[in-house]
Amino acid sequence: MTKVKKSDTVEIVRGKDKGKKGKVLKFYPKNNRVLVQGVNITKRHMKQRSQDTPGGIIELEAALHVSNVMLICNKCGRGVKAGYKMLEDGTKMRICRKCGENI
Ligand SMILES: [Zn+2]
Repeated sequence: MTKVKKSDTVEIVRGKDKGKKGKVLKFYPKNNRVLVQGVNITKRHMKQRSQDTPGGIIELEAALHVSNVMLICNKCGRGVKAGYKMLEDGTKMRICRKCGENI
C-alpha cells in the first residue's frame, strides 16, 4: 500500500533528480506512479496547432515510481519513511516513523 497522495511534498531519493523536493501533482494508483512538480522534466517537441499556441519545445514533468520518492516530514525536514497509527476512534493517521509526527 502506498502512502503518498496528491498535494504531499516529497523528496526524490533515486535517479537524476535525487535530492529534489516537490509537490505531488497527480497520483496514478494503477501503476504506482506519481507526478511531482518540477521533477523529472522531459522536453517534448510540439507542433504548432494554431497561431495562439505556437509549437516548439515544452517541458513537462514525467511520472516517477513511488519507490523513488519519500514523504517529507516537516519536523525532520527531510524525506522519511511513513507509517500508520490507529487512533482510538479508529481513524488512521499517517505518521513519520522517525519522530512520530503527523504527515
Ligand atoms: Zn519526522
